[in-house]
Amino acid sequence: MRKSWSQLFFKSMHNLLALLRPSTSTCLICGRNDHRTVSALPSLCSECRESIPWISRIHCPICGRPERCGDCGRRHAAAFICNRSAVQYNDTIRQWLALYKYRGHEGLEPLLGELLLTAYSGLLQEFSQRSKLFRIDAVVHVPVSTERLHERGFNQAERLAAYIAKQSGLLHFDILRRARHSQKQSFKTRGERLRDSRELFVSNVPAILKMMDRLFGGDVSAMPARLNSGESVRFLLVDDIYTTGSTVNACARAVREGVNWAGFQMHIEIYTITLARS
Ligand SMILES: [Zn+2]
Ligand SMILES: [Zn+2]
Repeated sequence: MRKSWSQLFFKSMHNLLALLRPSTSTCLICGRNDHRTVSALPSLCSECRESIPWISRIHCPICGRPERCGDCGRRHAAAFICNRSAVQYNDTIRQWLALYKYRGHEGLEPLLGELLLTAYSGLLQEFSQRSKLFRIDAVVHVPVSTERLHERGFNQAERLAAYIAKQSGLLHFDILRRARHSQKQSFKTRGERLRDSRELFVSNVPAILKMMDRLFGGDVSAMPARLNSGESVRFLLVDDIYTTGSTVNACARAVREGVNWAGFQMHIEIYTITLARS
């Protein structure tokens, strides 16, 4: 069942506190022992816990950056409503993500998932205050190329999206494909990233048809009244890092195009959550 922001907030706080509580087991990150309290969940020592660079104040309402933002003003029409990130992408978070993504440290998944969940519960709270009808219909994720999937064995964005969906009672769908393997984003200039991202993502129309069937029973005429009344269908798009926003923007565009190609003419809103804002 879909959870309200307050249910989710308390659940997420409870999970996070349990996760961050020092325990008699070794710290998930540094391996140090901390003997103060006992927790059944994987935990962090006080030093690692205090090193989390939370984003507590948002400056840019679009990308969720904690400082002044030039990127969002330059983007003419964003295909997504906004991005909210849990933490800043500093050396600590870079290391944690590297342990998870490249060294296969799967034990970090609940920790990263809980960090991301705070971004989602914050977004839900923010938009529920604007409209009581606000609800997310489905969770989707940024895909990686088949090549990278073989290399790494998993897609971190997909895993994190599955975590969020499970914790918040939402349905999660795999509807996007990465059209070709791209050179690592970090080696490119800003202009190259923007140009390249445009054609990088395509939607999988059969997967979209299946998704619409799960969500609305497939038949447009059978769709709930809220769709006929013109209310938006809202997607939550998940990725690990937000840099320029060109990746999530290209994915959001592919979701819109895919839903239209599949024959559904409806108003779509896409909200993005990312673990870290670089
Ligand atoms: Zn530690
Ligand atoms: Zn911005």
